[in-house]
Amino acid sequence: MEDLPRRPGDRYRSSTKGLAHLNGSNTARFRVRFKDFAGAEKFRKFVSQLHRTKYRKTGLRYWQHELWNAFVALYPEYSMSADDLRTALAICELHEIELVPVVVPVFRGCIDYAPDYITDMLQMFPHSTLDQISTEGGEQEIDPTILVCHECDNVRNRSKWRKR
Ligand SMILES: [Zn+2]
Repeated sequence: MEDLPRRPGDRYRSSTKGLAHLNGSNTARFRVRFKDFAGAEKFRKFVSQLHRTKYRKTGLRYWQHELWNAFVALYPEYSMSADDLRTALAICELHEIELVPVVVPVFRGCIDYAPDYITDMLQMFPHSTLDQISTEGGEQEIDPTILVCHECDNVRNRSKWRKR
């Protein structure tokens, strides 16, 4: 992958290899452009749903497809697969910083979280490092790697839900 600095005015070369043409600063520009297009609130919802575990296997939801297709119609140079899109938008929807992969222990079974924990988590620290990831009762192997936001961890650690 080429990662040369670009001069202002350089055009993206179109590529069928998804993110091959998006380096760091182009990725940042893509996020700004897509956020402008979607509007802040929808952008946040889009990013948030992209990283929910249960949607990871099924790809984009219907409304996401609609929004994405409209965006790509305007900016065909950003055409990419759902997986590449997930990589390009691997940011925390609250703090807008990069998510980083962390491996956590796997818990075999279901974990029931307290409702007020879930409320606080979704509003304040949606990507904090989980203590463990559960198989939710399934027998299948699950990927113990999760994407976390360090700022979410900071927020959680200052709250009553800090890890002990
Ligand atoms: Zn965050």
